[in-house]
Amino acid sequence: MDASQADLKKVASYIKECQRLVILTGAGVSKESGIPTFRDKMTGLWEGYDPAKMATPEGFLKDPSLVWRWYDWRRKLVGEVQPNAGHVAMASLEARSSALESGPDHFTLVTQNVDRLHQRAGSTRVLELHGNIVTFRCFERGHQAHESIPFDLEFPPLCRCGALLRPNVVWFGEALPAAVLSAASQVARQCDLMLVVGTSALVQPAASLPYMALEGGAKVIEINPNETALTEDATTFLKGASGVVMPQLVRFLDGVN
Ligand code: NAD
Repeated sequence: MDASQADLKKVASYIKECQRLVILTGAGVSKESGIPTFRDKMTGLWEGYDPAKMATPEGFLKDPSLVWRWYDWRRKLVGEVQPNAGHVAMASLEARSSALESGPDHFTLVTQNVDRLHQRAGSTRVLELHGNIVTFRCFERGHQAHESIPFDLEFPPLCRCGALLRPNVVWFGEALPAAVLSAASQVARQCDLMLVVGTSALVQPAASLPYMALEGGAKVIEINPNETALTEDATTFLKGASGVVMPQLVRFLDGVN
């Protein structure tokens, strides 16, 4: 059974009263836009391929063309879909916090998503823990590629230094951008409310952020249609899809329900 009206109302009151809100999101929030999670079975063109093998530096070096074409397909897909009601509701929570005297420093959206749908929905205070797949950098030296890269290339284009370009994502086995991780850890420790939406809470170090919040005394609310590794420890579990539960919370905040 999905989250009860009483639980939704309770969490809306937490949002209303909190001083520092952090929202942590994962691939589940983009599912209703039509972007598959890594745990969904790959279909069509990519059936039979394992994302966990392709989304690695070793996978890229072994077959740069294959990995490039997979990211090309994913970049096209994210460009063709739209942010959903969950993304929009999260952007509206940021807009409300910016209107408060306490100021926008008191809202942060930390995402593991690489699709830029939060930004397209209007979120501006976004920490991208795993980078994104719409910009590119040099595989060898990290030079940022400033030019726009056309679709449908069969092989990665070259950086000005001659090395291969790669998407600006964090692959499995790679370190997260230090400044982003440090900022995310800081807001997690300092917040008094964290919403954890659409993540299996398995991929580290993102999965530690809710525990940092709990240790700092924050309430941690999990929103997911399925239970996860975090559910038992969360203050409240709101069962349901992000695109349903997030707008419901906003409506409760508006006093409509
Ligand atoms: P995950 O695939 O491990 O877990 C997805 C979670 O979303 C699951 O717990 C599932 O129950 C939940 N879920 C499914 N539908 C939902 C819905 N409608 N509303 C709310 N929750 C829903 O995803 P993860 O925890 O983000 O970790 C996987 C890694 O894959 C991340 O590192 C991420 O960078 C990457 N990834 C990103 C995208 C994207 O940017 N859209 C897509 C695929 C993978």
